[in-house]
Amino acid sequence: MKTLDNIRFVLVGTTHPGNIGAAARAMKTMGLSNLHLVTPKIYPSAEATARASGADDVLARAVVHDTLDSAIEGCQQVYGMSARLRHLPVPVVNPREAVTQIQQASDDAQIAIIFGREHSGLTNEELDRCQHLVNIPANPDYSSLNLAAAVQVLAYELKMSFDPTIEVGRIGEEREAINAEDLEHLYGHFEESLVTIGFLDPEKPKNLMRRLRRLFNRADLDRNELQILHGILRSAETMREGKGGE
Ligand code: SAH
Repeated sequence: MKTLDNIRFVLVGTTHPGNIGAAARAMKTMGLSNLHLVTPKIYPSAEATARASGADDVLARAVVHDTLDSAIEGCQQVYGMSARLRHLPVPVVNPREAVTQIQQASDDAQIAIIFGREHSGLTNEELDRCQHLVNIPANPDYSSLNLAAAVQVLAYELKMSFDPTIEVGRIGEEREAINAEDLEHLYGHFEESLVTIGFLDPEKPKNLMRRLRRLFNRADLDRNELQILHGILRSAETMREGKGGE
């Protein structure tokens, strides 16, 4: 099975160590841990560790390289992240499309995603190493994301594609499912009660019951909610009976 372990993020020529730390944090939050650094300006650095804030294990395992070729060695697919859409004969995709392509690669394929320098991005020679360019569609008048923010976008798209589950699906109590018989029983109870309290005229029912069915079918009722509705109907019937003599 393909996993996020086959994917490495490569930061080239990063100037600010804080961005390296923030990138490590962005990766770890999405379950990624293979960080490669090509000629970072200042590294290791206390600022990188501070900004990693709990992702220092990713930072500690980061591999530093002298060349980009060394960082992408053994990779079958190389994606270059570019803020500027240059007119290069290389296909440009958005992050979601890139992740779809990554999913289609063979299970053991190694994948590299390359991020450029804060001020100047990736050089043409570095872009030549990439089979695909990835552009995050952004505000055309202000399209350059902070390096770690660009890392976060890619990491999130990968996580959403490889494992979109969230840890706590629903906050609070467990919802017990109900079945078709429970719903029929509820609609039967509604019909009887609405006749009892005089809201539904059995001679002229119109579409009331059908509309109520439509309403509750949309509501995805659980057992607890079903019991509340039965309880309300019983109360209404009891009140009506109490007033019966008036
Ligand atoms: N001023 C640089 C951008 C540097 S931002 C330039 O014009 O190229 C640092 C890195 O973050 C970029 O090299 C790129 O890898 C990534 N990045 C930032 N914004 C991006 C975007 N909109 N799409 C793709 N990558 C982006």
